Amino acid sequence: MFQHTNILNKRPVILVLTRCRSSFAKFREWYRDLWAPQLPAPPFKHVCQIGDPTLRLKAGDVPLEEISSDRMKHILLVLRSVMKNYKSVGISAPQIGIPLRIMMIEIPEYVVKHFGPEVCKTREIVTTPFRVFINPVMEITDFKQTVFPEACESLKGMSALVPRYRGVHIKGHEYDGSPTEWDATGWAARIIQHEMDHLNGRIYTDIMECKSLQVDLWKTINAKQGNVYIKYNK
Ligand SMILES: [Zn+2]
Repeated sequence: MFQHTNILNKRPVILVLTRCRSSFAKFREWYRDLWAPQLPAPPFKHVCQIGDPTLRLKAGDVPLEEISSDRMKHILLVLRSVMKNYKSVGISAPQIGIPLRIMMIEIPEYVVKHFGPEVCKTREIVTTPFRVFINPVMEITDFKQTVFPEACESLKGMSALVPRYRGVHIKGHEYDGSPTEWDATGWAARIIQHEMDHLNGRIYTDIMECKSLQVDLWKTINAKQGNVYIKYNK
């Protein structure tokens, strides 16, 4: 009799305990979140490095009705500012953690000066004004392949020989959503192909000449007996 009564009475007790436990777990989670450091959210002000899953996603189109939204303006502003800080000639939104089809390109005068006339002639590097392409579509217009050293801010401190087509046509949208297009050749065409690859989850290591991959400071590393440090922001 005693046992019987106990079993009957146990059920509601278990139910109450389960409910308590579940609400306590929720409370504990909420309480913990109050004190846990919040992780930074994209768009990042640094460039994501190879291994970051965002760099391997096929980026999605920007809905055209969203182009003028505050959120998009913020993403475009951060992307432009990261590009400037890193002194990069090309950047794509996935590199700041945003899997959207946006790329920016610019070859400033100081880059042309840095390479010098001989290299610029061989690699067809010319000063190119800043351009943004939202939802870009690219076509190859010159199938002649050139193989030159290429680097990427997402593989900080490294470079490799990468084959690219000589000419491309690209069309997309500007900041305000108006259509834009461009026939690019030489180094500009190379940058466009590099950034288009980013938008499709590809990185130059996927198509490089494998044995040419190098850490650019390898000589300095030997000279300084390994005392060389890489910073991943600017
Ligand atoms: Zn890159």
